[in-house]
Amino acid sequence: MTGTTTALDAAVPTPLQEVADERLARHGVRLLLKREDLVHPLLPGNKYRKLRPNLAAAVAAGHTALLTFGGAYSNHLRATAAAGRLLGLRTVGVVRGEELAGRPLNPSLAAAAADGMLLHFADRATYRRKAEPEVLAALLDRFGPAYVVPEGGSNAAAVRGCAEVGSEIGDAADVVAVACGTGGTLAGLAAGLAPGAEAVGIAVLRGGFLPGEVLRLQQEAFGGRRGRWRVADGFHHGGFARGTPELAAFAAEFAARHGLDPEPVYVAKMLYGVYALAAGGAFAPGTRVAAVVTG
Ligand SMILES: *Cc1c(COP(=O)(O)O)cnc(C)c1O
Repeated sequence: MTGTTTALDAAVPTPLQEVADERLARHGVRLLLKREDLVHPLLPGNKYRKLRPNLAAAVAAGHTALLTFGGAYSNHLRATAAAGRLLGLRTVGVVRGEELAGRPLNPSLAAAAADGMLLHFADRATYRRKAEPEVLAALLDRFGPAYVVPEGGSNAAAVRGCAEVGSEIGDAADVVAVACGTGGTLAGLAAGLAPGAEAVGIAVLRGGFLPGEVLRLQQEAFGGRRGRWRVADGFHHGGFARGTPELAAFAAEFAARHGLDPEPVYVAKMLYGVYALAAGGAFAPGTRVAAVVTG
């Protein structure tokens, strides 16, 4: 790590805090919160774990700019913009949906722009082809040389960064639950856990593509499948960034009981999933479940 990345120093290991809840205790389940939301003030949670190794590689290779991709509500774009500002790197964000150009920016994109990110709105057809060499070459031609980070920040370096979350938990939990968007965090987390532990990914979007994607990312990062993991598909509540009254009521009650207002897009769905799985008898009595508070 070069001196120029010390602005990214983090509070690791992040705390693992037990919370008492009779709704779980009655099923013999203990809940621990892995407080990744506390890892860095500007780059919370898994975005920090994923970006840090990529930023170190970018700086080491002498890059002065980062180029990455995301949807209009992407936490990853926002985190990349903040990291670029901290490290003095120019940032370019390619945003899905050319219809957004010329409209007022939503809070997420406004925060990225305020951190100096240049936003480029791509039409959906081009955005889908973003990993193809000619599409990428055209972007670099237009915006200048840059270290390229894929959508959601999930590449091999990011997955290896997320393995640290698993190794910090070690054997303090039997099951570790994490929300899944691209699956990069689950891929790394599972690889870092103690051999007896299992990672459960709660999908926050529809599609059923996650098991294949997690396996692909583990192959890219480690050369093959690592750790014990599975994906639970029943808790997306209508799809990405959507919700239901049950989810909202659950999140409000969790906040009232435990003083932690769960981030709505990912963390609330993950916690809802943990409680629902416990209520359905998915965990043997005595199971210690660590829930990763990714943001
Ligand atoms: C991005 C994000 C995730 C999803 O991580 P993936 O590695 O894409 O699966 C989970 N939680 C929060 C809070 C996030 O911002």
